[in-house]
Amino acid sequence: MLFYNIRINMRITLIGFLFLFLYFCMGYIYTQHNVEILMQNRYKVTALNMKRELMTLIKDKQEAVLLVGISLAQNPSLKTLLRNKKSDNLELNHYSKILQENTSLKNIWLQILDNQGKSIYRSWTDKTGDILTDARADVKKMIEHPEILSSISTGKYDMTFKTMVPIYEGSKFVGIVETLAKFDSIVQKMQESNYKTLIVVDGAYKKQLSQAYTNSFIEDFYVASLQTDSKLVKIVQENSVSSFLNIDSYKVDVNNSLLFSLYKLSDINGQDMSYFIIAQDLNKINIEDIIQNRNRIIIGLLFGLAVITGFLFYLYAINYKKFIEEQKEKLEEQVEHKTQALKVQSEELRHIAHHDSLTNLPNRLLFFDRLEQAIKHAKRENEKMAVLFLDLDRFKEINDTYGHETGDKLLQVVTTRLQECVREEDTIARLGGDEFTILLQNISNENVIKISNNILTIMQKPCIVKNLELFVSFSIGISCYPQDGENANILLRNSDTAMYRAKERGKNNYQFYNVSMTDIAMERVALQKDIRQALERKEFEAYYQPKIDAQTLKVVGLEALIRWNHPTKGLIYPNDFIPFAEEVGLIIDIDAYMMRNTLREIQEWRDEGVETGRLSLNLSARQLESEESTKELEETIEEIGFNTKYLELEVTESHIMRNPIRAIKVLDHIKSLGIQISVDDFGTGYSSLSYLKELPVDSLKIDRSFVVDMMQSEEDRAIVKIIISLAENLKLDVIAEGVESKEQVDCLLKQGCKIIQGYYFSKPLPAEKCKAYLLEHQ
Ligand code: C2E
Ligand code: CA
Ligand code: CA
Repeated sequence: MLFYNIRINMRITLIGFLFLFLYFCMGYIYTQHNVEILMQNRYKVTALNMKRELMTLIKDKQEAVLLVGISLAQNPSLKTLLRNKKSDNLELNHYSKILQENTSLKNIWLQILDNQGKSIYRSWTDKTGDILTDARADVKKMIEHPEILSSISTGKYDMTFKTMVPIYEGSKFVGIVETLAKFDSIVQKMQESNYKTLIVVDGAYKKQLSQAYTNSFIEDFYVASLQTDSKLVKIVQENSVSSFLNIDSYKVDVNNSLLFSLYKLSDINGQDMSYFIIAQDLNKINIEDIIQNRNRIIIGLLFGLAVITGFLFYLYAINYKKFIEEQKEKLEEQVEHKTQALKVQSEELRHIAHHDSLTNLPNRLLFFDRLEQAIKHAKRENEKMAVLFLDLDRFKEINDTYGHETGDKLLQVVTTRLQECVREEDTIARLGGDEFTILLQNISNENVIKISNNILTIMQKPCIVKNLELFVSFSIGISCYPQDGENANILLRNSDTAMYRAKERGKNNYQFYNVSMTDIAMERVALQKDIRQALERKEFEAYYQPKIDAQTLKVVGLEALIRWNHPTKGLIYPNDFIPFAEEVGLIIDIDAYMMRNTLREIQEWRDEGVETGRLSLNLSARQLESEESTKELEETIEEIGFNTKYLELEVTESHIMRNPIRAIKVLDHIKSLGIQISVDDFGTGYSSLSYLKELPVDSLKIDRSFVVDMMQSEEDRAIVKIIISLAENLKLDVIAEGVESKEQVDCLLKQGCKIIQGYYFSKPLPAEKCKAYLLEHQ
């Protein structure tokens, strides 16, 4: 966790390193400080040694000088001399020579004094006989208390070691032997020990040194030795003597690389008399051990620093590696995750590409793929299979009436039902819109029929969608492998063809494909092309069938009925192409054509003064689908200036009942234009009375089928009667069509229907003939 984050990791390492560095610095400083102390101690010791050496030399010298004095004090010739007070025959010169040759005492002077302090002999001069008791306190002291006296003193020549030894003859004090020695040899000996020594005598003695032997002074200080190293003399001169006099233990002169020490000698009265400035070359002081020690410690510190730093970085590296590994793992995890997500996504995409989003059924693409696979398999295994092509009957109406949302829900309900009817291994697909396909593998004809029947049966139950009870049915076309096609395209196309046949056969049924269906399908394609051509070539013609008031025998109206003057097939009646045109949508163009031509024609006649009565046009189901579809009609009326008072539209009852609510809307609109509306083929469409009351219609047209058998069938007669009374009750006009005989006319008149249309009065007539008819019957 500590090294979880790379930044923390690095930071800790750096802080660790900094601490180490600080530790190293402190260690270094401490070591340096210790070295300093050690060096000071070393200097102190060295200075002390220097002093000690000097003291030993001085003491040795003093002792030597004293010994000389003591030995001389025993000399009998000396006693004789004192007794005689004469210095003749004294063999001291010989004595000094022996001393010089055999001892280190090179410069030694002797003086013999008598017990009164009178100088009897002096080795350095012939001048004797003077009494020294006044001039010299030590001599006076000696005479009073004749005891060995050792001292340092400064006279007029020099500073010297002095010993006075009393001479006794028996127990009688007879004289004194005084020996004097200089300090030169000490300086020399110090030199031998590598110590430079400068001996100076305090300035207080300057006066006394009237005939100073060395004749050398630094400031007021007399230089008591000539042998002193000239460099040392120079340094002392430059720094002034006094700066050396307060050296307590030692003094370091780094510039000259010298260690100084000071030794003082006092006179008999305890006053500082002489100063020994001792110097040692710093380089000659052995401090190697200290430096080595220091170096060892520093190396140790450095080594420690390096080791711990290395360790720290090792830790860091390990953890960094760990971190990298963790990151790598995380990344790998992420990649894995993403890959998985991508897989799922591509899986989803694949699913989307192959499925219909509404029903989640395989789509055309996937169905086609499965069909091809199934064909291969069937071929291999010698199996039979079937493709069902299902088309919902009247789905478009539901969609248009209740909205797409309801339509979609219905499709979902239908899907569930289809799934209930097939086996698990069968594939149901939605090709689009209200078209479904089912692939039944390894199946017998009997089972195909069974499944198809199941589908038709299950669809008889109402579908509950958004609290609506909707009734839908399927038209099913079936093609079988291998007899109806050996590849997917053909199988699918043939099942489609069979489905059309099912539609033609009244919907809500299934049809197996047979070869003739293809012919029919081809015919349909040809017919469609033909109709288009007919429209272009104006092969359609309006026939008019008069509607007669049977009481007055006057023409009250004309029904326009379409005829097709086919260039090769001759006259074709509407039943042979109108239903087909409705199915394929060409009816819109046909009706527009009819509207334009008939309105123009009738308008012409009327303009000519021909009484036409009301013109009736047959309105196709398509035109009932929306208010928009009547636009063409309105425009034509406007264009021609046709008085809508003379216009009536016939709408079949079944067309209205397919979707009464919507039909009412459209009819309301038509009505608002001043156009009359007649319900055609009334009695066949199972109109519900409740709707009938709502319908904005003006008249009911009794269907020909009732009229035909009216005279023979009591039942039909009753129906006609009911329709007539219904119209009466609803305050609607009533008209009978297909009236062919006088009896029928009479019967209808008797029942209260006076408007008659039928062959009895006139067949539908071409325009010119109709015009003539009209003129005739005016
Ligand atoms: P419909 O509207 O019921 O027209 C009456 C049909 O009965 C006409 O057939 C007419 O010729 C026939 N008819 C009239 N009187 C008699 C009779 O006394 N005996 C017999 N046996 N038949 C009689 P048609 O002209 O063949 O028209 C058939 C149907 O085609 C019409 O039935 C109508 O629904 C439709 N139709 C005709 N012309 C058009 C048109 O211009 N547009 C549309 N949308 N449909 C049309
Ligand atoms: Ca009609
Ligand atoms: Ca009719």
